[in-house]
Amino acid sequence: MKRKVGIMGGSFDPIHIGHLAVANEVLNIYELDEIIFVPTGDPPHKEGLRADACHRLMMVTMAVLSNDRFSVSDIEIKSSGKSYTLNTLTELHKIYKNTEFYFITGTDAVIDLPNWHEPGEVLKLCRFIAATRPGISLEEVGIKIKGIMEAYGGNIEILKVPMLQISSTDIRERFRTGVSAKYLIPECVEQYIIKNGLYRYGDTRL
Ligand code: ATP
Ligand code: MG
Repeated sequence: MKRKVGIMGGSFDPIHIGHLAVANEVLNIYELDEIIFVPTGDPPHKEGLRADACHRLMMVTMAVLSNDRFSVSDIEIKSSGKSYTLNTLTELHKIYKNTEFYFITGTDAVIDLPNWHEPGEVLKLCRFIAATRPGISLEEVGIKIKGIMEAYGGNIEILKVPMLQISSTDIRERFRTGVSAKYLIPECVEQYIIKNGLYRYGDTRL
C-alpha cells in the first residue's frame, strides 16, 4: 500500500496555530502517515517586517517537535533561486518512493493555483486538500475549484475545519505594535520571536 504524505507549503512567517490545526485535521481525516511542512525560500525583495528563512525554518522546526507525524523540510530554503511547487513535488517523489502526496492549503491559497507555475503538472503529482479559512465563502471557493479542475484536471477537495481567523500578517503586526500573540502561536515560537527581536523595527530592521 502507498504511504500517504501531506505537504504543507507556506512562508510560515511565523508559523501559527492555524497552520498546525489545519495540518492535524487533514492528518486525521485522510489518515496520513506524515505531514511535511515546507517553508518557502526568501523572496528576492522582502517587503515590510519579514523574518529570514533560517528563523522561519527554526520556528517551524520547534513548532512541530511535539508531533511525531509532523516534520519539516528545508528543500525550498536550500534551493537557490525561486522554487516552484512543481520542482519541490518532483524532488519529493524521488525521495519518497511509493507515496501518494496530499498538498494542503487554505481556501485562500488554492484559488490562486492558476497563477502557479504549470498548474496542470502540479495537479498530476498530488491531490489538493483546501481547508476552509475565514474571509472567502465556500460557494466562491467551490466555483473557482470547479473551474480549475475543468481547466487543468486533477483532484481538489475542500475540507471543512474549525475556522481560525489567524494569519501570520496579523501576528507580525502584533509583535510590531506590542500586542500579545499568546495562544495564537506556540509558546516556543513566541519565545523565539522575542529572544531574536523578530518583527520589530530596531536592530533587525530589514
Ligand atoms: P500571511 O498572512 O503572511 O500570508 P498566512 O497566515 O496566510 O500568512 P502562509 O504561510 O501564507 O500563512 O500560509 C501557508 C498555508 O497555510 C496557505 O495554504 C494558507 O492558506 C494556509 N493557512 C494559513 N493560515 C490558515 C488558517 N487560519 N486557516 C486555514 N488555512 C490557513
Ligand atoms: Mg498567506
